[in-house]
Amino acid sequence: MIDTDRPAFGALLLRLDTAYEKKASALRAAEYWDQLKDIPIGLLTDAVSQHIRDARTFPRISDLRSAADKLADNRDTSRPLLLPAAPAREPETDAHGLPVYHYHCSNCHDTGLEFLPDDPKRQPTVRPCHCARTNPKLQPVKRYASKNTDVRRPW
Ligand SMILES: [Zn+2]
Repeated sequence: MIDTDRPAFGALLLRLDTAYEKKASALRAAEYWDQLKDIPIGLLTDAVSQHIRDARTFPRISDLRSAADKLADNRDTSRPLLLPAAPAREPETDAHGLPVYHYHCSNCHDTGLEFLPDDPKRQPTVRPCHCARTNPKLQPVKRYASKNTDVRRPW
């Protein structure tokens, strides 16, 4: 698993908590993540499903590891995987033949800042856009800003 699998991993733990009526624990989640993060998320998902089907008690880390190991062993690797070819797609262009850029947020054009009509009495004339917390195109910028304290963060 990689960092972007964390939400999916959290959902897996939630499934386990629900299935075994166990109280969620941030400490347990952190330990499970540390000890299981070398397992691909797809494989771990299958291991969790199998455990929920077969076992009566909440899985230990070692239970999930061995279930994932067994599943990986059972996967037939003698036959090549048949993957569909990616469809060829022409890039979208506008009337001038320039590539079209799709903004995630048309309100701020993914800057995270909304420009307010000029009003000399009011400062500043920008404010954080409503998308600033969730806009995926802004997240890399925000990550950079959080690691570099010398840049100002408007959001
Ligand atoms: Zn926005």
